[in-house]
Amino acid sequence: MGKLHLEVVTPSGVLVSAEVDMVVAPGTEGEFGVLPGHVSFLSGIVPGELRYTSGSEKVSFVVTNGFAEVSKDRMSVLVDAAEKSSEIDVERARKAMERAKERLAKDRKSADIDFSRAEAALCRAITRIRIAEKTI
Ligand code: ATP
Repeated sequence: MGKLHLEVVTPSGVLVSAEVDMVVAPGTEGEFGVLPGHVSFLSGIVPGELRYTSGSEKVSFVVTNGFAEVSKDRMSVLVDAAEKSSEIDVERARKAMERAKERLAKDRKSADIDFSRAEAALCRAITRIRIAEKTI
């Protein structure tokens, strides 16, 4: 079978540009797999694990929000942030989780707290912790 060209792009640059055999990504409708020859489609990406295999190599990343486009043996993933699961700073993620929880514990009517932003930060932090602990 042919290969799939995977690109993972964040605002800080191209994180992955590789010929791979299979990708599993966290879509808005649930986790989905892509093999070479997949039909073209678009999906939103939500915080979760993006993994790919290339020969005997297995690589895992945490991604946050964005979208993925699959067409003609190419898959482009554009996300706000991504990092290798093995490189997650768990302590940083725990602090981010605590900060978000403190904000969410405040009065919902409080004008100076952006609750949806805090919820999104909590989701990113929990995802990072979950995937880092699974990876260890
Ligand atoms: P924090 O409040 O700790 O910055 P955040 O969820 O707001 O967390 P993001 O905006 O998602 O952070 O990411 C900013 C940058 O920092 C990205 O490049 C992301 O890959 C990196 N990053 C964020 N948290 C971690 C972490 N726990 N370990 C490694 N890299 C991280």
